[in-house]
Amino acid sequence: MGQIKVTVWNEYLHEIELKEAAAVYPEGIHGCIAKFLEEAGMDVKTATLTMPEHGLTEEVLSNTDVLIWWGHMAHDKVEDAIVERVYHRVLEGMGLIVLHSGHASKIFSKLLGTATESLKWREDGEKEIIWSVNPGHPICDGMEEKFIIPAEEMYGEHFNIPQPDEQVFISWFEGGEVFRSGCCWNRGKGRIFYFRPGHETFPVYHMPEVQKVITNAVKWACPVNTPEVKYGNVPPVVKFRA
Ligand code: ZN
Repeated sequence: MGQIKVTVWNEYLHEIELKEAAAVYPEGIHGCIAKFLEEAGMDVKTATLTMPEHGLTEEVLSNTDVLIWWGHMAHDKVEDAIVERVYHRVLEGMGLIVLHSGHASKIFSKLLGTATESLKWREDGEKEIIWSVNPGHPICDGMEEKFIIPAEEMYGEHFNIPQPDEQVFISWFEGGEVFRSGCCWNRGKGRIFYFRPGHETFPVYHMPEVQKVITNAVKWACPVNTPEVKYGNVPPVVKFRA
């Protein structure tokens, strides 16, 4: 396999506007994620909301194997035309990894049919234990069966998503809730992975276990050389009338 081309998209507002987030991610969440993916040997670019076309031009997307998405406070500022563009690239085979509050993004809703209000949350710095419920899955490569995030925002069930095609992780939180934290879906030729951790004021993306999951997920979501598929009215493949 050649070098995987990754684009890390971040809304990049909290780290500019909020001191606590800037202290944790001085180069932005996208900068942190790009760094560890580069160290894993990937060809990584970043894009943010305020760039023209949100940094997701036709050219950028056609040169992206896997797109990573972090957004929270400005989902509605993402232009529908760009969402449409990302959507079609996923159907064509581009991998998509949606992180944390990206569950409420336009692209996640469009691909999975979810509503914005689709989970419980509490910003209390609770301990989170993430358990693998699918240890043979490629996203669990090199992982222990569980890992602990010392302090995180809680997300709780019910998570109003379509039943995942593959469930990889579930989380337990100190306050008693559980959550499906690692979920895989297929849409068209594209693979989608949702991974829960990553509130902007906790140093979650600095954790080796979280970095490993995201790195594994990029490899899993990277498109393979799939056949061209034609849709619509077609002549028979085998002649069946004399
Ligand atoms: Zn959050």
